[in-house]
This record gives sequence, C-alpha cells and structure tokens, in this order.
Amino acid sequence: MRNVVIIGSGCAGNTAAVYTARANLKPLVISGHEAGGQLSLTTLVENFPGFPEGIMGPELVENMKKQAEHFGAEFVHGNVIDTDFSTRPFRLNVEGDWIETRTVIIASGASARWIGLDSEHKLIGRGVSSCATCDGFFYRDKKIMVVGGGDSAMEEANFLTRFGREVTLVHRREEFRASKIMIDRARHNPKINFVMNTVVKEVHDVDQGIVTAVTLQNLKTSEIWRQDVDGFFVAIGHIPNTKVFKGQIETDSDGYIISKGGARTNIAGIFHAGDVQDRVYRQAITASGAGCMAAIEAERYLEAEGH
Ligand code: NAP
Repeated sequence: MRNVVIIGSGCAGNTAAVYTARANLKPLVISGHEAGGQLSLTTLVENFPGFPEGIMGPELVENMKKQAEHFGAEFVHGNVIDTDFSTRPFRLNVEGDWIETRTVIIASGASARWIGLDSEHKLIGRGVSSCATCDGFFYRDKKIMVVGGGDSAMEEANFLTRFGREVTLVHRREEFRASKIMIDRARHNPKINFVMNTVVKEVHDVDQGIVTAVTLQNLKTSEIWRQDVDGFFVAIGHIPNTKVFKGQIETDSDGYIISKGGARTNIAGIFHAGDVQDRVYRQAITASGAGCMAAIEAERYLEAEGH
C-alpha cells in the first residue's frame, strides 16, 4: 500500500515527488508515455527562475527527478492503463499490475494535438514537428509551414522566422483565435505569409521518408494545390491526458480536470497538478508550483486521516 502515487514525471509530477519524498511519504512516480513531460522536448529554458544563463529542458527535469530520488521517491516506467477510484484505497493499473494507494496526484499533463493525417503521423520527426523550440534549428534557411490559429501558432511562426527563409501560417478559418498582440506581432513580421480558410489534406513524401510538400485546400473556393515545404509544424493545441480517469474525475468538455479549489479534484484524496488542469498558464514554473500545492494537500490529507 502506497501513501502517494504520482501520475506523470514532468515539472508538476517531479516537484510533487520532491515535496512528498521530503515529507517521508515515499512517493511512487509513474513516468508515463512522455517521461519528463514537455520539458524533455524543449531545448533552452530561459524563464525558469534560478538559472540566469538558462538551462536545457531535459536537464532541468532530470535534475528534479534526481532531487526527488535523493529524498526517497521511486520512479517506474510505464503508463497507467486503468483506474478504480470508487473504493479506498484507490487502485491504479500500471501496465497490468494493480497498485493500491491512499492518495493520488494526477500530473499527467497534456499532449500535442495532431491534425490526424496518416502521412503526418508517419513523418513525425522527419520534418513534421509539434515543437518549434525543439526543432526550429533544423530548418535554417528552409521553407517552413505552421498550422493553427491560436497563440501557439503565432508564437511558433514568429520564433521560426529566426531560422526559416519563409514561414507560411495556415489556418482553417478567417478569424484567428490568438490574442491581438500575438496576431499583430506575426502580421508585422515580413517573413510570415498567411493562408486563411485552408486545411492540410496531405503531407508529402512518405515514400521518401521526409517532408517535401503539402497538399492544401481552400475551404471557401475548394481549390486544391501543392506547396513545397521542408518543415511542417503543427500548433493546434493540446489534449489533456485524462482518458484513463474518464467518468471518475470531473473534467470540462475538453478533458481538462475541473479544480475544486487548491489542488483538489471531485474525489477527496485525489489531487491535480500542472497542465492536466491548467489550460491558461502552462509554464514549467506554474506546473512546478502546482506540484508543490498538490504535495502539500496530499500530506495534510494523509495526516488528517491519521497516516
Ligand atoms: P488554441 O488556443 O486552442 O488554438 C488552437 C488553434 O488550432 C485554433 O486556431 C484552432 O482553430 C486550430 N485547430 C484546432 N484543431 C485543428 C485541426 N484539427 N486542424 C486545423 N486547425 C485546428 O491552442 P494554443 O494556440 O495551443 O493555445 C492554448 C492556450 O495557451 C491558449 O490559452 C493560449 O492563449 C495560451 N498560449 C499563450 C501564449 C502566449 O501568450 N505567449 C503562447 C502559446 C499559448 P479554430 O480557431 O478554428 O478552432
């Protein structure tokens, strides 16, 4: 029987692990299918306080893990594939093995949303990316396309102009979802072309195993054309990793956990931390802060229950 099981090993999960381990609760961290979370997909992190020169994302998250292990946290690889929160202790199925625990901290994060094309999927890492910060560097002087109409798309398009010769931003509607300041910044960037009311039908070339072009369609005129690109960046939002808690943990219509105040979910003893609940701030430092909050709440809950 565990005192605390933490689902997820990004900033939120690892910080919760540091705090609960230091409180002698011997937390078990289930690393999840994207171990290290989003930081493990980034390069230099310049806005995490305490590192005046910046720090590489993977190093930052690995440091947090080491810090947690130093105080007695245990990490296991794998995913939670099933949960039963209807009984006490709570039960979690990790890759076939059931684990029992008095408290759970859900820090399972949010994963990049993809358009859903077979060709897109096959070319991930071969010209298709969901992370400009990680992969922009590879497209120096190349043709880049960004898909999306939110702040992420604007931010990524702007960022990618540091590398690419030109950046085409493709959005499926006439209006952007992004904030005015981000749109203005992109509009004033001479390297960005906007293609509106347009969707991506295909990414080429799966046979060559590298991105060479895309097929686009204008939804108003139905015109279809092919455009050469080298880098294809998808910035159409994220999907919170809550499928496995469906029907048990209350979420909004997009799947984000609904907070009941502090780090509390609708079930006493189960807490949330990080991007799995936060659709607004989504920063490493806010995820870490949320991990700390969840840990303190789990600690107090266990104490109140007499453990
Ligand atoms: P978002 O605001 O949800 O925008 C997603 C965009 O992708 C929308 O424009 C949407 O189109 C489009 N989209 C969704 N599914 C699509 C599909 N299957 N095919 C084509 N397009 C699709 O997501 P986000 O841009 O990642 O931002 C998420 C949150 O983080 C927001 O609150 C945002 O403000 C915040 N954020 C802030 C900053 C910043 O301030 N520096 C930077 C990044 C993100 P429709 O508009 O047609 O739905």
